[in-house]
Amino acid sequence: MRYCVFCGSSPGRLPIYGTAAEQLGHALAESGTGLVYGGASVGLMGVVADAVQSRGGEVIGVIPRSLVEKEAAHAGLADLRIVDSMHQRKALMAELSDGFIALPGGIGTLEELFEVWTWAQLGHHGKPCALLNVNGFYAGLSSFLDHLVAEAFLKPAHRNVLIVEQDVGTLLAALRNYEAPQVTKWIAATDA
Ligand code: AMP
Repeated sequence: MRYCVFCGSSPGRLPIYGTAAEQLGHALAESGTGLVYGGASVGLMGVVADAVQSRGGEVIGVIPRSLVEKEAAHAGLADLRIVDSMHQRKALMAELSDGFIALPGGIGTLEELFEVWTWAQLGHHGKPCALLNVNGFYAGLSSFLDHLVAEAFLKPAHRNVLIVEQDVGTLLAALRNYEAPQVTKWIAATDA
């Protein structure tokens, strides 16, 4: 079992973001769950990878050649896969993983999380997708997602696919218990 973690290539403003990344890394290693991530040593990405490795867990980094220097590819990984493009990076991370978790991060983090969530909505995979809502970091996004439902652009069942939890243990339990909904994305004429 491996989970993919998307998170900032920056550490963020508050130390609590790094603390959460570290807690998640420790919990993954202690539960025997491997980490798949973007292969960088910078920001929260480096923190989560180091935390998993410090407890003897498995880490696979996936980084495009063009970012090896810019994101300082993690030199201490036993398994670093260098690919040719951002698209190959995301495809390989998705293939290697049994679920996806976003920690706080920037637009790269959001882009990666939204891509795998939209694939779940289309029924391309049945793997869980989750946000670790550290210190309310994702509260504004959660409200906006409710707005998409209220405005009938997102079905409640697909909104509920995204697990949002503040506590690492609760989050990992929710991923383990996840069952994909059997609801098609496409809104039939009769639903309108
Ligand atoms: P950020 O949250 O912006 O700090 O970015 C987090 C990670 O997402 C970094 O490793 C970025 O290289 C990566 N990233 C940003 N945009 C993309 C993209 N379009 N496809 C794949 N990875 C991306």
